[in-house]
Amino acid sequence: MLDRSVLVLNKSWIPIAITTVKRGFSLVFQDHAHIVHPETYEMHGFESWIAEYALPGDAKVPDDQVWLRTTNLQIRIPEVLVLGRYNGVPRRELAFNRRNIYRRDTFQCQYCGNRPGLKYLSIDHVQPVSRGGATSWENCVVACVRCNTRKGNRTPEQANMPLLTEPGKPNWDDGVGIGERVPASWAKFVRG
Ligand SMILES: [Zn+2]
Repeated sequence: MLDRSVLVLNKSWIPIAITTVKRGFSLVFQDHAHIVHPETYEMHGFESWIAEYALPGDAKVPDDQVWLRTTNLQIRIPEVLVLGRYNGVPRRELAFNRRNIYRRDTFQCQYCGNRPGLKYLSIDHVQPVSRGGATSWENCVVACVRCNTRKGNRTPEQANMPLLTEPGKPNWDDGVGIGERVPASWAKFVRG
């Protein structure tokens, strides 16, 4: 529970990082950050959060909310934090790897649009390697095994298989770096 993800916004409410509940509570406790209420976007310091969102261990908590349970106490888990001072936007490089290409292309074949499942997906070089195509964000897309085989060693033009979307380097907050599951409370701040 303490390693659940918390979205961190800078002072201007721009998402800049993801941290853990444990680290998040520590930031709030040290007064470096406030908790953003997941529904009302009201800001809470540690004390006001505890005053409203700490209950005895045996109290009933809403089913649709995530609460941290200790022996004597239940505390509602923060989902979004806003920093008090930091206003920068650090550049984040998203790792170029197979998993992130799958995520960028939302596990969808970029030629036929099907989502046949991971087992039937592959990575296709848009410009084939044999024709000097690079292994890069701009030249790699998800293709189902069928389309990949059909396309073979040809360019999309030669194979008459147009791409659904122009491949490019995703931003870390496109939902690619974050993962597939974005809590509703994050949706206002991150894309994807
Ligand atoms: Zn396909």
